[in-house]
Amino acid sequence: MTVDPKTYPRVGTQSFPETLPLADREVVLTFDDGPNPPTTSKILAALAKECVRATFFMIGQSAAAHPQLVKRMAAEGHTIAHHTFAHADLKKVSHDKAIDQIDRGIAADEMALNGKATTVPSTPFFRFPYFESTPALLDMLQSRRIAVFGADFWASDWNPMTPAQQLDLITGRVKAAGKGIILFHDTKGQTAAMLPDFLRYLRDNRYKVVHIVPPTAQSRPVSR
Ligand SMILES: [Zn+2]
Repeated sequence: MTVDPKTYPRVGTQSFPETLPLADREVVLTFDDGPNPPTTSKILAALAKECVRATFFMIGQSAAAHPQLVKRMAAEGHTIAHHTFAHADLKKVSHDKAIDQIDRGIAADEMALNGKATTVPSTPFFRFPYFESTPALLDMLQSRRIAVFGADFWASDWNPMTPAQQLDLITGRVKAAGKGIILFHDTKGQTAAMLPDFLRYLRDNRYKVVHIVPPTAQSRPVSR
C-alpha cells in the first residue's frame, strides 16, 4: 500500500482520528527502536521465511552503529522509517531541541542507508517516541510532508513476559481488532522469539500482511 503523507499526514487510531484504509483481516507490521543485531536479525529471518515485509521505525544512533543491518533491511524489501536520534520524549524538550532530535535521527538513518546525511527522508514516515507529540511538531512534519504514524494497537512488548504469553496477547488483540497497524519492538527478545509463530498464525487464519511504502521509490535501490 502506498501511503502519501499528503493524503495521510497522521495515522493510527490510538493517537489520531484517522488510520490507513485497511480491509478486514489486513494488518501492517511495524517495529520500533532498532536496529539491535541479536533480536533484529531474528526478526528479519522470520519475516523472510514467510515472505512478509514490515516497517522499521529506527533510532538514529542505533542505525549509525549498525549500518549493515539497516542496508540489509532495505535490501530485503522492508521500509526504513524514523523514530528520532536518541529516543527522547519530544514533549519534554524545547521545540528546537525536538526538531534537532528528529533531523539528526533522519540524517543518521539516511547515512546508514545511502551514505548521505540528509534531513530529507527517502521514506517520509515518522513515529514519535512514546507517541508524545506537540501541535507545533505535528504542523512542522506535515509542512515537510512527513507522515506521522501512531498505531491502531500494540503488542505491549515493553512488559516482560514469556514468548508464549506474548503470542497469546497479540493474537488476542488481532482477533479483537480484525485489522490495523500493529506496533512491536524489534529490540525485544520475547517478540523475536514468538514472531515465527505469530506469522504462521496470521497465515493460517487468512490475515494479509500489508507492506506500506512511500509514493516514490526514491529510497531504492540500495547500492551494495
Ligand atoms: Zn520507541
